[in-house]
Amino acid sequence: MTAVQDAPVSREPTALISARTQLDDAAELLRLDDGLRATLAHPRRALAVSVPLRRDDGRVEVYRGFRVQHNLARGPAKGGLRFHPSVNLAEITALSMWMTWKCALISVPFGGAKGGIAVDPRSLSRHELERLTRRYTSEILPLIGPEQDIPAPDVGTDEQTMAWVMDTYSVNAGYSVPGVVTGKPISLGGSIGRAGATARGVSIAALAALRDSGRDPAHCTAAVQGFGNVGALTAQYLTDAGVKVLAVSDIGGGTHNSAGLDITTVRRHLTDGAPTVVGYPCGEPIGQTDLLGLDVDLLVPAALGGVLTTDIARTVRAAIVVEGANGPTTPGGDAVLADRGILVVPDILANAGGVAVSYLEWVQNVQAHSWAEDRIDTRLRDLIERSYAEATNTARDRGISLRRAANVIAVGRVATAIRQRGLYP
Ligand code: GLU
Repeated sequence: MTAVQDAPVSREPTALISARTQLDDAAELLRLDDGLRATLAHPRRALAVSVPLRRDDGRVEVYRGFRVQHNLARGPAKGGLRFHPSVNLAEITALSMWMTWKCALISVPFGGAKGGIAVDPRSLSRHELERLTRRYTSEILPLIGPEQDIPAPDVGTDEQTMAWVMDTYSVNAGYSVPGVVTGKPISLGGSIGRAGATARGVSIAALAALRDSGRDPAHCTAAVQGFGNVGALTAQYLTDAGVKVLAVSDIGGGTHNSAGLDITTVRRHLTDGAPTVVGYPCGEPIGQTDLLGLDVDLLVPAALGGVLTTDIARTVRAAIVVEGANGPTTPGGDAVLADRGILVVPDILANAGGVAVSYLEWVQNVQAHSWAEDRIDTRLRDLIERSYAEATNTARDRGISLRRAANVIAVGRVATAIRQRGLYP
């Protein structure tokens, strides 16, 4: 029996509308010509694949997979693999575009890409997930490689997924190619510090924003939406810096404590086997919408995209929004937050720590070398703080929001690279 697992119709406004709206704005500010705008609005390559999977009970199902390379002007394509039921070509295209800007903003020599499969990985056994990942990898084999396109973890994937991608690629090559993916296990050439890198970057950006607005972290509060690799560790790092985290949430809902949550024990609650943070004994249940509207200094959306819509943005009471997720704010939501004077540290800056350490991992792989933790941590901090300062200066000089400034810098760098390379033939 064969069943085709169709990707669901995506929510409006789609991530792609968001990404193109932001690009149009940056292109206008940079006065880019129409040819360049059209080049940047569309991906360089997009591959859609069918991924047949033999389930453990013998049935065959077919899943939709994608790999999109948005732009290669500044270097090999770079970006994660997302396994989530909402994955579709438009979403992956938007995410690939954001990767191009993210790499340009933090000045690492990569273009942007993204890939994924429309699947709920929690519905599969470990063996099924391995077979699905390997078959998907073999379908996108012509596109990937350490000098071509380097996948990494994203929503629904982790270092084990990367190990399977690396092994499948290496078996086909006939030798080990650690540099084909980043976010690998350390035993296979992964970098120290990669697992927590996105969250490290989010907390570095959040603390920079608190400092710039004259706030002392020890007197600040935060709410974090999402308690996966990014959200849970961001909550932990913010706590370590003295910030009181009042609420966190995951797919099952949220938990709230007005005196501050003990993040270490919330994390232990999950590792002890609880399915969600909701039943955490020292917190009261809270819904996602109420969490986004909490009266806190910092709001960190670190789950999926499109959550800060026009309506939700009107309810936000945080002074600063730090985007741990990719694309959490819709264009309408963004306008409301800007009107209300809420500082938004945009995704391509706030969550760039992951790809920053991916770059360091790739450099170590290419050199067959490994660096100590302090070197990685210092480079990560430098990349995020320097990009934050550049975006803040541009925002001030041009009188625009931090998001628009980050986009102007990033799109400008990619446009310069395209112009300097010229058009072939
Ligand atoms: N998936 C992460 C992101 O969205 C990391 C990508 C990478 O390291 O290539 O930035």
